[in-house]
Amino acid sequence: MLHIAIIGSGPAGYYTAEAAQKQWGDNVRVDIFDMLPVPYGLIRFGVAPDHQSIKGVVRRYEQTALSENVRFVGNVKVGQDVSVDELLTLYDAVVLATGAPRDRQLGIPGDHLGNVHGSAAFVGWYNGHPEFTALDPDLSGHTAVVIGMGNVALDVARILAKTGDEFAGSDIVKHALDRLMASNIRRIIILGRRGPHQIMMTPKELGELGHLSRATPWVDPRDLPDQADDALLEPGIRKSVTQLRSFAAISESRRAELPLEIEFDFFASPRALLGTGKVEALEVERTRIEAGRAIGTGESYLIQASLIVSCIGYQTTPIAGVPFDERAGRFANDEGRILTGLYCVGWARRGPSGTIGTNRPDGFGVVEMIAEDITSASSKQGGRGFDALAGARKLNVVTFQDWKKIEVAEASRARDGAPREKFVDVAEMIHARD
Ligand SMILES: Cc1cc2nc3c(=O)[nH]c(=O)nc-3n(C[C@H](O)[C@H](O)[C@H](O)COP(=O)(O)OP(=O)(O)OC[C@H]3O[C@@H](n4cnc5c(N)ncnc54)[C@H](O)[C@@H]3O)c2cc1C
Repeated sequence: MLHIAIIGSGPAGYYTAEAAQKQWGDNVRVDIFDMLPVPYGLIRFGVAPDHQSIKGVVRRYEQTALSENVRFVGNVKVGQDVSVDELLTLYDAVVLATGAPRDRQLGIPGDHLGNVHGSAAFVGWYNGHPEFTALDPDLSGHTAVVIGMGNVALDVARILAKTGDEFAGSDIVKHALDRLMASNIRRIIILGRRGPHQIMMTPKELGELGHLSRATPWVDPRDLPDQADDALLEPGIRKSVTQLRSFAAISESRRAELPLEIEFDFFASPRALLGTGKVEALEVERTRIEAGRAIGTGESYLIQASLIVSCIGYQTTPIAGVPFDERAGRFANDEGRILTGLYCVGWARRGPSGTIGTNRPDGFGVVEMIAEDITSASSKQGGRGFDALAGARKLNVVTFQDWKKIEVAEASRARDGAPREKFVDVAEMIHARD
């Protein structure tokens, strides 16, 4: 029997468990740990609440979760409740699938001013992550700046722009919906250092901005490169740029009809945040692109703004005793191997890139590696040993069956048309299980 501990119940964790089942069938036992009492990582806390169809992928993870040889061990934080070294004595292989939950810092003067938020915190707030429930963003001002040119920036801008009706069928949490419905924000600027040809946004997500009931997107036509140059782009990005061109063609009268505008500010590098206590303005330097890189031109300007959300990437949280690559912001690893017996997958291995599906080959790859490294059966205790340790430490472990009770309780208190009203703190989640 092979005993595997997977740390993290997001996509990478579940794809790894699925791969282990395919590889070893009944000869493997898998424990999937999560620090929260609820599974699925960023599917629950990252993917936008108005993108429910994407969240449907959890049905696949549930099949894995409900099989005999896989357990969910929720409400256990590895590195705090139990160490990686302890797990290594109990399991034949330990796989870190802990994602990249920390925001990369803007690293400019003023980035610690009030109402300057990273996207992990801001997205966590509207998605009900217990760590960010109390974020309390101030939406009483007129202008918000969203820094970044990827899909997360689009999610944040869209959520800030939607009406209550447009959240029908979503699982946005009540505290966020209430605050958004009272928002005074009328101008949302999506700002990035590089130009339209360098965006990381996908066409579908960009297209959604063109169908909002009270907001119009706007691109300054002067920022668009020669159309002939679009032919050189990779097809997905080319479609996205076509979408940007359509935003540039929206007439001024159409823009004037709707109360809210989402403006793209390209070739704009954030230099400093200004304000007393809370942010009041962003100082920006114009850039130009040389060999694909944004170079400052020395020309700068101020944007008066009372909310800043930076969507510029994420980092993995280090765990005591595990080699960490500070520069890359993830565990130091060679194709997923940290050392024999200890592995990483998903965002904890590669950093924050790719879609949910990108984590699947990661999981299968790391299982192949474990199969190469561990060729003989061991006498490790696996889950039985962990249960003894959890009992001795009085850990309040949440099982998958417990999660199903939490899930039912969340569904039963959902507002009309919504799939669930999430519990937003750990005590509430555990109470719903009891
Ligand atoms: C805002 C946002 C929106 C996104 N939207 C989409 C989308 O629409 N479509 C798409 O394809 N992709 C989307 N993605 C990307 C997708 O969510 C990721 O590719 C995927 O979630 C990464 O999976 P993961 O398992 O590596 O990490 P995660 O999903 O982050 O899972 C990590 C898990 O580890 C747990 N954990 C962390 N530390 C510990 C610890 N010490 N002990 C125990 N447990 C721990 C966490 O609680 C979490 O459950 C989005 C990402 C973000 C940030």
